[in-house]
Amino acid sequence: MTNKEKKKKLEKIVSIKKRILRESCNLKTNYKTTYKDIKKYFNIFNKALFKNELNPFNDVQIKRMNGCWGQCVEDYSIRKGTRFFCLEMQPTYENKKEFLTTLGHEMIHLWQQTIKKDTGNHNSLFYSFRPKFKKFGLSL
Ligand SMILES: [Zn+2]
Repeated sequence: MTNKEKKKKLEKIVSIKKRILRESCNLKTNYKTTYKDIKKYFNIFNKALFKNELNPFNDVQIKRMNGCWGQCVEDYSIRKGTRFFCLEMQPTYENKKEFLTTLGHEMIHLWQQTIKKDTGNHNSLFYSFRPKFKKFGLSL
């Protein structure tokens, strides 16, 4: 990578970070989940964290769940012989940062299972994203 490319990459990280911080700084307001935002931030995170390698979830559902903020559900079609990944998100979050953290978290599970053919557990592969998340002001 040339210095110019490095500089450009750094500028891109800084601008995405600013954007995430700006949009998630209001911690007092409840955030209401929309399919539009899920799509929007999926694309942003895909570029910023996953080198654009991720294919979108096969299905996205906003629904009330007990005991979790979000989940990446794997399904298998015996008829077609293919695997499906469904993202499930809560209808509301305490704030936007929590929404973004949850979406990023579930995207790592998708990455583990589709790109790395991993179990998708909270293992060292999962937590290898911690520094990257931190760079964008998000925690894992
Ligand atoms: Zn998880």
